[in-house]
Amino acid sequence: MLVKEMNQTEENQSRKVLPTTAEAIYESMGIDRPVYLYGESVLKSLEGRFREIDERAERNQLKVIKAMQDARIDAECFNASSGYGYDDIGREKLEKVYALTFHGEDALVRPQITCGTHALALALMSNLRPGDELLSPVGKPYDTLEEVIGIRPSKGSLAEYGVKYRQVDLLPNESFDYEGIQKAINEKTALVTIQRSKGYQTRHTFSVKEIGELIAFIKKCKPDVKVMVDNCYGEFVEDQEPLDVGADMMVGSLIKNPGGGLAPIGGYIVGKKECVENAAYRLTSPGLGKEVGASLGLNRSFIQGFFMAPIVTASALKCAIFAANLYEPLGFACVPNKNEDRHDIIQAITFNAEDKLIAFCQGIQAGSPVDSYVAPEPWDMPGYDSQVIMAAGAFVQGSSIELSADGPLRTPYAAYLQGGLTWPSAKLGILMSLQKLAERNLVHIPALC
Ligand SMILES: *Cc1c(COP(=O)(O)O)cnc(C)c1O
Repeated sequence: MLVKEMNQTEENQSRKVLPTTAEAIYESMGIDRPVYLYGESVLKSLEGRFREIDERAERNQLKVIKAMQDARIDAECFNASSGYGYDDIGREKLEKVYALTFHGEDALVRPQITCGTHALALALMSNLRPGDELLSPVGKPYDTLEEVIGIRPSKGSLAEYGVKYRQVDLLPNESFDYEGIQKAINEKTALVTIQRSKGYQTRHTFSVKEIGELIAFIKKCKPDVKVMVDNCYGEFVEDQEPLDVGADMMVGSLIKNPGGGLAPIGGYIVGKKECVENAAYRLTSPGLGKEVGASLGLNRSFIQGFFMAPIVTASALKCAIFAANLYEPLGFACVPNKNEDRHDIIQAITFNAEDKLIAFCQGIQAGSPVDSYVAPEPWDMPGYDSQVIMAAGAFVQGSSIELSADGPLRTPYAAYLQGGLTWPSAKLGILMSLQKLAERNLVHIPALC
């Protein structure tokens, strides 16, 4: 305490003295003492949970390294291929690493899969045939999938190709409607899609255990039906993944958890050999499948990013839990709430006021390593019925494993926060968000000393 005070006094006397304590460095970056002290008091209460996250990250890190050793990753893997990309050893071993880590028979991990929606569309379109039925037993899927399926009419949708869609909503208490699901499954049902993360909905995110119970029920109703899990934002959050509880394929984006912040593009599909093979023939061409697809020098980013992913996901989880524990006591409702177990990295914080949501997002941006000097403003985003504000000071455009936040400007003025490549960077961003609210007198910080 005494040392800190001396440092501060010295700093006031001479600007040349560099701040050395964390508190002094935060202060030099614009975080006032009350915000810092409140943050530290919150963190003190989270020591046990952070330890659990670190221990899980350790287990998942070992899982990934074991897979890399078993796949015999070596320096040759990092060479670039171009053109057709025949015999790209790095690409083949990367896919082996994904398959081994997630316990699938095979994997497709490619920069030619442009994003999460593309990976999901590919998995669906390649594993369904005209006349088949697709079932979502967990309510409405992610917004962008509405056009893929044809719920909202769209060129090239599954509906255009004669694939029908059925949906069974969750019960009011958010449990699965087993009776409704049993009724919806029929001789045409070929594929069942389960979205793990809540996305922009208000329901909870399903745990892997819950997903396993649902899959067991579905397979009892119809053993030969394929089950796909949209695993976006879920990778490495738990010890198990959907393939461990009976899913036939799981699908996600490389600019979320499994890219570890290093993958600049890409998506993956892991699971049964047949499902992955179907997807490969659709991604490239019948007859070519997995044999082509140049990696264009991205193998090292993909492999190293996957190596980093368990620890990066742990940082993002700490970020979400810290934010909930910081904001909920100040009167802002959080989903998940500050004490709940986590099954993805998304944190919703309800601000109930436009100026508070804007201050929050501007703070997240101001604490970023990239584009910290620009202030995000609400804008009219295509496809939305209200303005949206987005904060993203990211190395990879649109990457949401990097600390980012967005929210539509309508009641309840909720911000969706996710990511954080390193825990200290996430902590700075969140403290800065609270600082912006405090500076504008939009929040009362409890006095601590
Ligand atoms: C992000 C996300 C998607 C789509 O991913 P994009 O990369 O944005 O296309 C699909 N489902 C869920 C649950 C997601 O979180």
